[in-house]
Amino acid sequence: MSATLIDGKAAAARLRLQVAEAITARCASGKPAAGLAVIQVGHDPASSVYVASKRRACEEVGITSFAYDLDANCPQDELLALIDKLNLDSRIHGILVQLPLPAHIDGNAVIERIAVTKDVDGFHPYNLGRLAQRRPLLRPCTPRGVMTLLENYQIPLAGMDAVVIGQSNIVGRPMLLELMQAGCTVTLCHSRSRDLTTKIAAADLLVAAIGQPAFIRGESLKAGAVVIDVGINRLPDGKLCGDVDFATAVQRAGWITPVPGGVGPMTVATLMQNTLQAATFTDSK
Ligand code: NDP
Repeated sequence: MSATLIDGKAAAARLRLQVAEAITARCASGKPAAGLAVIQVGHDPASSVYVASKRRACEEVGITSFAYDLDANCPQDELLALIDKLNLDSRIHGILVQLPLPAHIDGNAVIERIAVTKDVDGFHPYNLGRLAQRRPLLRPCTPRGVMTLLENYQIPLAGMDAVVIGQSNIVGRPMLLELMQAGCTVTLCHSRSRDLTTKIAAADLLVAAIGQPAFIRGESLKAGAVVIDVGINRLPDGKLCGDVDFATAVQRAGWITPVPGGVGPMTVATLMQNTLQAATFTDSK
């Protein structure tokens, strides 16, 4: 048996096109397009790659991107003052602060400073709280992107036993909430979870967000399972690989996302979708 590939690249291209069409329609009706402020503190090479791809995506869909590149030693107060200014700037509908931040900056304080209606990453406690209360506003991009992928492939989620491995605030926890909202029974696992093997073997749907190359092998999966690999790991030869051993998992799963070309492209496309959504908040004012 060979699993159906869930093509995140194609799904992301479709989503970006939808956003581009909506932006064109906004402009045609006299509304402002949408503006996204992307703040990077320091020059972490991986962060620079992500920031560049976000700015490119903005250009492609017609969102105006505003670049703020701050020095690695930038004092926290300076960053907070910039966020205060952007919160009040009517050209800017979304504010994104690229993580991780340098150690001297309190990431929670930064996230909480962003106006909840401009929090296009969906990391503010208000937005996570709204998701937990089943009335989401701005949803974290990676889990929302996963949900869009599952919808695209019409995977019937209600009633499924889902297992999420990884409990970070940006992926695992909001993923748990998204899947609960879709009617799954969800088990959230982490490094102290006991008997992971049994839990994985029982999963109709498995989401791996661990950060360890090929941690899950095909033999451990339930036959026909839906496998969503969020992990992005760089191997010594420079190649990217996921948290799932693709070669063995594709033999046993029913559906599977590849790495690269699965969840990754959806994250950036969903950021564009969230920015468009944030722009609509100001329309009625
Ligand atoms: P974190 O490092 O914040 O979290 C990793 C999680 O995995 C933790 O909850 C940790 O448990 C758990 N974990 C680690 N080892 C084990 C183990 N042996 N058994 C079970 N659980 C384990 O990572 P992120 O959530 O930020 O990212 C996870 C992966 O997803 C990374 O590869 C990252 O690059 C990728 N990523 C991909 C994105 C995309 O767009 N595709 C977006 C964001 C991230 P504990 O909490 O107990 O320490």
